[in-house]
Amino acid sequence: MTEPSTIHDIRMRTAVPLTPWASSNVTLLGDAVHTMTPGRGAGANTALRDAALLGHMLVEANQGRKPLVEAIHAYEVEMLRYSTEAIRESKKQMDASDLVHRPIVGRLQLAVTRGVMRIINAVPALKQRAFQQMMRVRGEN
Ligand SMILES: Cc1cc2nc3c(=O)[nH]c(=O)nc-3n(C[C@H](O)[C@H](O)[C@H](O)COP(=O)(O)OP(=O)(O)OC[C@H]3O[C@@H](n4cnc5c(N)ncnc54)[C@H](O)[C@@H]3O)c2cc1C
Repeated sequence: MTEPSTIHDIRMRTAVPLTPWASSNVTLLGDAVHTMTPGRGAGANTALRDAALLGHMLVEANQGRKPLVEAIHAYEVEMLRYSTEAIRESKKQMDASDLVHRPIVGRLQLAVTRGVMRIINAVPALKQRAFQQMMRVRGEN
């Protein structure tokens, strides 16, 4: 029932996994370093996780527990670890060749997915497990 004129296509882009670089007093966070597909709803979550971690590292440097560039490097190594996982997981959930985009099989897959979601919602142990899985990608902190 959506108003057709409000629908438009957008091009999905995703970062590729990076390896740590030589750190300096300039760093990156959020989409600037790890833009990802909306597959897991984790882009903003990951950006906020970066902000929390980088803030923590800057306090470490400010209080003399780590030299500044070493603190930034520690942030970058950890940020690249969890953001790489979020990028991969998000892409897995958003693939144009996925069955869900096929005409008949797609409807079937959607029905099965909804059934499984209802079962997970009704069984506390499964719900807890699904929540933990989701938080692994979205960031526990
Ligand atoms: C349709 C859609 C749905 C989404 N849904 C979710 C979701 O459910 N859950 C989730 O976690 N994430 C979601 N995201 C992702 C999330 O929006 C982004 O990951 C998040 O906004 C990234 O934050 P950021 O601060 O890194 O970048 P941005 O939010 O892009 O902020 C960058 C800012 O810098 C400004 N800027 C750019 N260039 C300059 C310049 N030269 N000078 C000054 N300012 C500049 C921009 O105007 C912008 O305000 C979604 C994204 C989209 C597009």
